Order: sequence, then structure tokens, then C-alpha cells
Amino acid sequence: MFSQQSSNGSSSGIGGSSTNNSSTSTPLTEKFTSGTGSVDDHNPLWAYVTVLQSRIGTAGNAKWRCNFCREDFGGSYYRVRAHLLRQKNKGIVICAQVTSEYLVEMSDLEQNATKKVDSIQVPFPTGTTNLNPPIDKNKRRRGTDGPLSMAFSNEARDHLSAQIARLFYSAGLPFNVARNPYFISAFTYAADTNISAYIPPSYNALRTTMLQREKSNIMKLLQPIKDTWVEKGVSIVTDGWTDVQRRPLINFMATSSTGPIFLKAIDGTGEFKDRHFIANLILSVIDEVGAQNVVQVITDNAPVL
Ligand SMILES: [Zn+2]
Repeated sequence: MFSQQSSNGSSSGIGGSSTNNSSTSTPLTEKFTSGTGSVDDHNPLWAYVTVLQSRIGTAGNAKWRCNFCREDFGGSYYRVRAHLLRQKNKGIVICAQVTSEYLVEMSDLEQNATKKVDSIQVPFPTGTTNLNPPIDKNKRRRGTDGPLSMAFSNEARDHLSAQIARLFYSAGLPFNVARNPYFISAFTYAADTNISAYIPPSYNALRTTMLQREKSNIMKLLQPIKDTWVEKGVSIVTDGWTDVQRRPLINFMATSSTGPIFLKAIDGTGEFKDRHFIANLILSVIDEVGAQNVVQVITDNAPVL
């Protein structure tokens, strides 16, 4: 569905054959978040209470209701944290409704937030710790071919590259992301276009609205191909493989004379992959595609069948 191939030949799968992994799945505690609360990066647990009355316009010392046990309390983030993370002897009742799974998620959130606060500024190879070094407007105005502006442009180029490199190293991104055409075009577009006060998509936007938007976009693009299935018929192609995280994946493609479409990949972790399991998967895919359209099912002769 996307145009690039995984260039290292393995299955890191930005293209069609990836499955949901934990980073895109919904957190268990999601249903307890307030949505509109005064959520901030440093005090993430505010999201799990409903602020009823905040003093002097801030949530600093507020009246709040726990979204888990629905009880009302008052006080600062220190008390919110003690209540939700079930920290005893902090002068507040610990929450009776926060189970150990919820506790793990919320502790992680809190820990990451604390780490963020403590993180130190590591200087870039370009000699600055500043993420946005001040731009010398005078240098910039002297046209594009003066020696000063050339020097400035090289400096900015260098700094941008150093920041991108830092992104890769700090997030552990695979180096072949550098070959991803969308990665390249994102930065060239950003460098060539002056969008004032632009902020890149947030963690939440990426995993919710933008993901949905891209999915429906792709679905819309695939629809003309699906429309031909009724007339020309479609073959289901399925194969099992193991991805880099050693998950047993079973993928399904629908192929017709107008082209192949990736349908889905099932993570078979923890399943007993016998013929009944496989047969049921194939049956459900046939149902999704429309039984009247399916001409044949193609698979390898895995020992399981
Ligand atoms: Zn509670």
C-alpha cells in the first residue's frame, strides 16, 4: 500500500505486512482519562482525575474527582499521584479501584515524565545545546550568494542534520528509515516551506486522528480495485512467517487482475496453530472479501495443513 520496500530485506514492515504492535494499541487506562483535563507532560496523572474546581485558574491545588473510584479529594499533584499510584503514608487514601495492570501503565507514564524533567541538554556536534539556535536575520537578508549567507546556510544545514541524527540515535530508529521517501520529503518540504509556528504531530494525534485519516485515505484508494472483484473474481493468498520480534504471523493478501491488496496479518502468538485454527482464519477472510467473489485460496503446503 505504501510505495517503499523494506530495504534491509527483513520484515520491519512499514509497508503492508505489518501488524498492530503495542505502540499503537490503546492503553488499558485510556477509558479513565478525562480528555479535557489539564494534562501536561510533567504531570501526566492529572489526566486520570476530573478537576472539579481549580484554584486561581490552575490545577496546582485543586478539587478533583478520581476517575477510577469516583471519590472527591483536594490537593496538589503530589496527592493525585499518591492516590493513583497507591503510595501509602502520603496523607491521602490510596485508590481501591486501581488494579495492578493500571498501576503499571500509570507508573510508566509518571516515570517517563520524571525522566523528561531530569534529562540534561546534550550539546550537538555543531557546538550548541539549543534546539533552535537564533537565526541571524542580517546574514539572511544579504541575498543567497554572498559568502556570509553561504556560511550561515551551511551552519543551519549542519545543525539540522545533527538534530536528525540525534533523533535516530535517541529513539533507536533503524537507519533504513533514512531511505524512507516520506522521511526525506518531510524534511525537504519543511526546509523549503515557511510555515510559521509549525509544531509536528503529537503523540496522540499520530495514534488517533491522523492514523484514522490515513487509514480511510488508503481504504478509499483501494476501493476501485475492490470494486473489480465482483466481476473478475479474487484469489486469497496466505502465508505464515516469523517477524523480527519472533512473532508467528499469518498474512492474507487478495489478488486479482487489477493488483494485489494486503488484507491483514494475524499474530498467532499463544495460539495452537493447527488446521482448524488456519481454516477458521481463511473462512473469516473469505467472509470479509465476499464468498461469491473468491475464486481460489492459494497457500504453501505447510506441515500444519
Ligand atoms: Zn481513586
